[in-house]
Amino acid sequence: MSDALDKIQQRVLPVHACERLPIRECLDRVNNEAVKSPHNVPPLPNSAMDGFAVAIGSLAQGEVTELEEVGTAFAGNPFNGNCGPGQCVRIMTGALVPEGTDAVIMQEQVEFTETGKIRVDSDHRVGENIRLAGEDVVQGEIVIDAGARLSPADIGVLASLGIGQLQVKRKPVVAFFSTGDELVSIGEKLEPGKIYDSNRYSLHCMLSRMAVDVIDLGVVKDEPAAMREVLENASKRADLIISTGGVSVGEADYIKPALADLGTTEFWKIAIKPGRPLTFGQIDASIFMGLPGNPVAVMVTFSQFVVPAIDALAGAKPRRPALFRARALDAMRKKPGRYEFQRGIATLDDNNQWQVAKTGKQGSGILTSMSRANCFIVLPDENDGVEAGDEVQIQFFDWSL
Ligand code: AMP
Ligand code: MG
Repeated sequence: MSDALDKIQQRVLPVHACERLPIRECLDRVNNEAVKSPHNVPPLPNSAMDGFAVAIGSLAQGEVTELEEVGTAFAGNPFNGNCGPGQCVRIMTGALVPEGTDAVIMQEQVEFTETGKIRVDSDHRVGENIRLAGEDVVQGEIVIDAGARLSPADIGVLASLGIGQLQVKRKPVVAFFSTGDELVSIGEKLEPGKIYDSNRYSLHCMLSRMAVDVIDLGVVKDEPAAMREVLENASKRADLIISTGGVSVGEADYIKPALADLGTTEFWKIAIKPGRPLTFGQIDASIFMGLPGNPVAVMVTFSQFVVPAIDALAGAKPRRPALFRARALDAMRKKPGRYEFQRGIATLDDNNQWQVAKTGKQGSGILTSMSRANCFIVLPDENDGVEAGDEVQIQFFDWSL
């Protein structure tokens, strides 16, 4: 498993081309160059509260002081006058801290006198309720690394710096197709022995959640010539080509020669279930990943291997899925020597601890085991079965699933 991930990291090279885009269009795209802040955020000290700006020096120690209000500072509309001894300025959240003041006292902590003055005690300190210049970002600081996948917060940070456009890597282009003489498309008649092609739909949807351009190449017959044709065509258009099916004993025979003619291939027998056979190859500059045919295996291998490959292509830092500990509610049979991804439903128990149940039958063709699940129950190589009550690790379905 980790060998395959290492190989993907080594073999898959990032796209070079970049484009400059308005920041709103940069969501989920990969930042090309580290972004340094052109100025401090906030640029100047401002109030974190609605209240009164005062000079702490003008408060009498241990006593209540009366201060005269000499004006108001609004957010975006500063108080430009002078605030001297015995005076204060009414101030709103986000307003610049007026000259001559060094603290903001919350509205709730002052009393009003009949003569319109305010009364405050001396229990306050310099800097109280003031956001300092550069408190969020200091000028020159790197705020977004090269290779970062841009999140909504990143886009907000760019806006807070007044940056309207950003250079990002171009989107990788991903082409995919299904193989199998038994497959028919939705709308076609289901003759005996035929099944509807579901992989193209789940693949299309998983890819749609990633920042890639998608090309659906349809269903390809189990014939060497058809395979060769589609691969040749795809390699001219896509950075990554994904196929499903055609890797059972006997069938692999027509992927192998087609790939061998056009480029290079490796067959990886990864010790995982579901999803053991994975074909990895290269045709010119395109990467080829041949996923198994079984619909659950497609989704497992996509989440574990295709997502890292797309990240590498996109020039993004690898993301590692987070594992959580959970108590198994069901027993699970498992042989040591392979990594298993059972499908589970995780919930919190009365003590706020994760517990996880299996989603019924776990065959790699049973797609409802995925659609009913919210996580994988990850059973490592050495695991030789689980009793109800045992601790297991779970991996919540993430951005792609
Ligand atoms: P294969 O690797 O081509 O032998 O496929 C393994 C199993 O997955 C077979 O039962 C296929 O019928 C099934 N299968 C392959 N491709 C698809 C698909 N696109 N949609 C649904 N089932 C598929
Ligand atoms: Mg097949």
